Amino acid sequence: MPWTNNYNLPEPIVRAVQRDTYNPGISDVTVTRLILPPRIAILQERFRAKIVEDVADGFFRMLGKCVHKLLEEKDSEAVVEKRLYSSERLQGLIVSGQIDRYDPKTRTIQDYKLTTVYSAMNGAKAEWVGQLNLLALLARENGWPVDNLEVILLLRDHSKTQGERQPNYPPSPVIRMPVELFSEERAEWFLNSRLQAYLSARMKLPPCSLEERWVRSNVFAVLKPGGKRAVRLFEDEAEAVKFTKGAGESLIVQKRGGAAVRCESYCPVNQFCDQWNGRQEQD
Ligand code: SF4
Repeated sequence: MPWTNNYNLPEPIVRAVQRDTYNPGISDVTVTRLILPPRIAILQERFRAKIVEDVADGFFRMLGKCVHKLLEEKDSEAVVEKRLYSSERLQGLIVSGQIDRYDPKTRTIQDYKLTTVYSAMNGAKAEWVGQLNLLALLARENGWPVDNLEVILLLRDHSKTQGERQPNYPPSPVIRMPVELFSEERAEWFLNSRLQAYLSARMKLPPCSLEERWVRSNVFAVLKPGGKRAVRLFEDEAEAVKFTKGAGESLIVQKRGGAAVRCESYCPVNQFCDQWNGRQEQD
């Protein structure tokens, strides 16, 4: 993968971010890929060698890996970081998924997520529910009974003072969030529908939906003067202004209606996506 280092981050950080320890095992498709919008999953496969990423954008992913590594040490009560496989081909594919932690006493699968307070305040995301239920299906198939699912949210932007002022603000930087456990029939139906969507996207790329593109009614984009691409997007205008003041360079804030937040700032394949690039020209 080609990298940029637009913010001149120090070499040890660059090396740590670029270190790729991900191993999907010997499978045809992973749970992580199946819960992505099919268009993103297929574009990632097609353009894997050409996707350019800035080191700064990979920073939190690297931090997440470090936290996983620390948490798996000396955890003798549970099974940690275990990749499980489907026992047979499903619609022609072997499916695999990695479990962060399985507690055999309580029959609970836990998944660590390094995320934001905003995510935590909006309940379990549909993709987390889908991911954990597919992992539960694989776990059962491998002889591990499952009664509970949980995400452990590690809030990278938690502020103790905000917690004292704001109602519903998470009281701690680490919270446990239970996730709905599907019946086996529903989980199987869900897996089959994701496999079908993935396989048909290989033949013909479907468009991403408004939901998959994270289209928001109003966002505040921070831009370089004369620039079109946002340096960052904020839901809150005051946060955007605060960011420009601390940035150490000249930046402006622009209010945007109907912005596709994922396409603009978080989709790793936006450079290869004609749905997004076509829309940008129209805009
Ligand atoms: S750029 Fe937007 S439309 Fe294109 S694949 Fe990414 S999320 Fe989907």
